[in-house]
Amino acid sequence: MAEGIIREREESEKRIKEGGFYDIRNWQKTDVKQLAMKTITNIETNHLYKLRKPYCRKCAINAVDKRIEEVNILIQKAKNRGKSDIKIDFKIDFEKFGEKGMFEYLDNDQPINMPESKGSHKIIQTGVYKEFKCKECGSNIAMQFENEELEKPKTPAQTGTPSTQ
Ligand SMILES: [Zn+2]
Repeated sequence: MAEGIIREREESEKRIKEGGFYDIRNWQKTDVKQLAMKTITNIETNHLYKLRKPYCRKCAINAVDKRIEEVNILIQKAKNRGKSDIKIDFKIDFEKFGEKGMFEYLDNDQPINMPESKGSHKIIQTGVYKEFKCKECGSNIAMQFENEELEKPKTPAQTGTPSTQ
C-alpha cells in the first residue's frame, strides 16, 4: 500500500507512481481496509491454489487492523501538535503470512470420499484434506488434495533441480 501525507499536495505530489502521496487528512479506514482485503485475497488465492501452500488470512487481517489503529494514533498525535506534514506508510508484507515457518502440519489427513461415478453406489477415496495450524493465531487451515496431485512427481521448479531442457 502507498504512503500518505496530511497536508495539501503539490501538483507533482499527486502523481502517486512518480513518488507522490495520498491525501490522508480525510482518509477512510474502510477504504484502506477494502483495498487491503483485495490484496490479501489475491495473495491467499495464489498460495492456496497456485503454490498449493497454506496461508493465514486471519493473521493478515489482524495486521491490517493493527496498522490502521497505529496510523489513527499517528494522525491524532500530529493533529494535536498542529503538525500537518507527516508521512505514513501502509506497507504490510502480506507474503509472510504464507511462510512455511508459520504453520504446523497436523498430520491428521481426512479422506475425501466420492461415488466412483455419477449415480454409482461404490464409494472411492479421491483425495485427502490436509490440515495446518497457524502457530501465531491458532487457526486451522484445511486444504484439499486430489490423489493425482499427491502421486504426481515433483516438477523441477518444486524440487529446485535445474531443468535439463
Ligand atoms: Zn494465523
